[in-house]
Order: sequence, then structure tokens, then C-alpha cells
Amino acid sequence: MPEVIVLFDGYSTKLPNGSMDANCTCTLIKSTKLIIVDTMTAWDREKIVQALAQYNIKPENIDYVVCTHSHADHIGNNNLFTNATHIVGLSVQQNTIFYEEPQILNEGYELCPDVKVIATPGHTAEDVTVLVKSTKEKMLFAVTGDLFEKEDDILEPSIWKALGTPELLKTQSVMRSRVINLADFIIPGHGPMFRVSHAMREIVKNQIIE
Ligand SMILES: [Zn+2]
Repeated sequence: MPEVIVLFDGYSTKLPNGSMDANCTCTLIKSTKLIIVDTMTAWDREKIVQALAQYNIKPENIDYVVCTHSHADHIGNNNLFTNATHIVGLSVQQNTIFYEEPQILNEGYELCPDVKVIATPGHTAEDVTVLVKSTKEKMLFAVTGDLFEKEDDILEPSIWKALGTPELLKTQSVMRSRVINLADFIIPGHGPMFRVSHAMREIVKNQIIE
């Protein structure tokens, strides 16, 4: 049942003055629950509403909002989805009730059959990845947030290293290898979806920081 639809491909470009022009990938998962992963910047409200409307979905129909981490370009429109449970990193929030979900750190927190949230720290201490087993393609999709910035960061690891939390580089290198070994497709935080190859898995394994 689960179907993965990338509503917007993320991107990131370094500007001459040293700041970044960036927006995150925004992904819709259609299953027995409706799930949106990462809600872009606060200036993208109308874009998201219109993109969902193409699938006959209204913001109030969304059951779960998952933010892979709490940076401003990944949480900008969470308040469009007031009927949803919000998972931001390791915390789960519904209305004013807020708790940490231990399953995210352990076996994974199942949102519905074949969709779960796992902890993949590194870019920040609280990153999560959404794993989706698609029945149609029989493939595993990993919506990774900035664990993978974009496909290019496999051959150019300086890209993710420059943006990650310095004390967590080793953790991120391990998590990257773990996720790329599981996934058939990766939907990175700031680039288009890409298919995982055996060669990529080897490269990422060799980048594990001891
Ligand atoms: Zn980001």
C-alpha cells in the first residue's frame, strides 16, 4: 500500500557571500495513514497546499507530520497540519501533549504497516529517517533528511561533513552506512531522490570514521 511521492526536491547552493540558498525535500507518503515528511520554509505554505490538492488531499487530512530534524527549513509549515501528530526528531507532539518516543531509538516507531521512523543522528543529535516499504515497487525508500544532503555527498563527503554537527561526524558516518545498506532509494534532505548502488554502499562503508 505505501506510495512515496516527492512533492518538492530539496536543493542547496552556496552563495558568493558565504550564506546558503536552500530548501528541503518535501515528501508525501500515502498509505493507510497520510504522512508528510519535512514542511519546508514558512514562505512555502501555498506551494504545499497546492501540491497536496493535486492528490485531492487537504492539510487537515494529514495524519502525521515528520520533521527529520528541527532546522527552520524543515519545519516551516507544521501548523498547516493541525489534525496530525507531529514527530520532530525524537519527540512526538499532539496538541500540547509532548513526549519522547523510545521506539524511535530502538526498533523504530511504526506509523502504519510498512512505514517507520528510526533515529539517525549526525547532522543534529536528534535526526530521524522515515523508512517506507513500497508494495508496488517492492523497494525500500529512506527519507533521510540531511543524513544525506544530496547524492553528490557520497563522492564528496566534505558536503555533509561541513553541514553536520562536528562532534557527531563519526556517528553520522556510521548512520549513513547503516541506512544506505537498507535502502533501495534515498530521498535526501537537499537533492532529488536517487537509486542506491552496490558501489555507493562500498564507498559509504569506507567513509566510516573509526
Ligand atoms: Zn536541511
